Amino acid sequence: VVTVTGVSKSFGSLAVLKGVDLDVARGEVLVIMGPSGSGKTTLVRCINLLEEPDAGHIHICGQSISCGPNARRNRARAKAVRQLRNRAAMVFQHFNLFPHMTALGNVIEGPLSVRGMPKADAVALGERLLERVGLADKRDVYPARLSGGQKQRVAIARALAMEPEVILFDEPTSALDPELHAEVLRTMRSLAEDGMTMVVVTHEVAFAREVADRVIFMDDGRILEQGPPAQFFSRPAHERTRSFLRLVQ
Ligand code: ATP
Repeated sequence: VVTVTGVSKSFGSLAVLKGVDLDVARGEVLVIMGPSGSGKTTLVRCINLLEEPDAGHIHICGQSISCGPNARRNRARAKAVRQLRNRAAMVFQHFNLFPHMTALGNVIEGPLSVRGMPKADAVALGERLLERVGLADKRDVYPARLSGGQKQRVAIARALAMEPEVILFDEPTSALDPELHAEVLRTMRSLAEDGMTMVVVTHEVAFAREVADRVIFMDDGRILEQGPPAQFFSRPAHERTRSFLRLVQ
């Protein structure tokens, strides 16, 4: 579903991604772990072009984008970027809900304005998705009156409303109090069980162990190692991975 080839990204003189290659299969749940500053957030932002890579190639379900100084910047490319973004929805650490819209309003905004769905259909879809994340009763509530866990579940419903090919999660629980992690992780687990393709940046080891098909360890802008969780957590190949896991487990 997703192929990332040779993606590099620097901020000024800081090289944050140093030629990352990554494939994500349909229905796969990929967890990305690694120390702070290793480039995890930048990588997921590059996958849906929220961040423009300096070099490399992103391919999502038939939509291919080349990046770099020689990539053409024309209307066709801008359109391809928009289409690619619609295929790869993002769930952010800090939810990024529209504060002036209700829970339902947030969920149906994309279907209405991006997908051009008729209002009645969007409302029906939004209600179904709020029900799916356990928030049917919060339909008309504004984000300020929701808990962090509820906000994040609205954000997940909003991502689902775009009917994406893949959902990219950037540390979806790390802004939440510990007691609110479980409800968000439960929602994510149920998406995984339904076969959603997911790329998840997280330090949640229990989630990675139980839900991930594959865990990737990033260090200093590169993928240092990867493997199925049973192998990754019990027999990491690199000392860097072992010392990181000692800190998070
Ligand atoms: P964390 O776990 O702390 O979120 P991370 O592995 O997700 O870390 P990134 O957020 O990708 O790491 O950041 C990698 C490096 O790039 C950091 O040193 C960060 O300060 C820097 N960086 C990220 N975004 C920008 C930006 N827009 N401008 C300048 N530097 C940035």
